[in-house]
Amino acid sequence: MVEDDQDTWGARALCRTADPEELFAEGAAQNRAKAICTGCPVRTECLAHALDHRIEHGIWGGMTERERRSLLRRRPLVTSWRRLLEAARSEHEQRAAPGDEPAWDAAG
Ligand code: SF4
Repeated sequence: MVEDDQDTWGARALCRTADPEELFAEGAAQNRAKAICTGCPVRTECLAHALDHRIEHGIWGGMTERERRSLLRRRPLVTSWRRLLEAARSEHEQRAAPGDEPAWDAAG
C-alpha cells in the first residue's frame, strides 16, 4: 500500500497548474472541474485523501462534496478509503478492459 503523502501524489496531479477556483466551483461549473480529474493519474489517491480526511469542500478525485458525503453515508464502516480504493483499483486493473471506469464512479 502506498502512503497517503499528498506531497508525493500531488506532484503528479493534473490540476497542479489549474486555477484553484475551478476546483472549488459551485453548481454546473463543478462538471468542468470534474472533467479535469477524468484523466488524472492520481485520482484514486486524491479521492482517498479527501474521504479519509473528511474534506468537505471542492472537487477531489472527480467527486463533489455532495457525492463524497453520500458515499460516506452509504459506507460508514470504512476505516481506510485509501486501502479500499487501492484494492478496488488493483482488482479493476486485473479484470477490466482498458478505458473502463473504476466501480466507485458508477456508484455515484
Ligand atoms: S483527481 Fe482531480 S482534484 Fe485530484 S489531483 Fe487529480 S485533477 Fe486534481
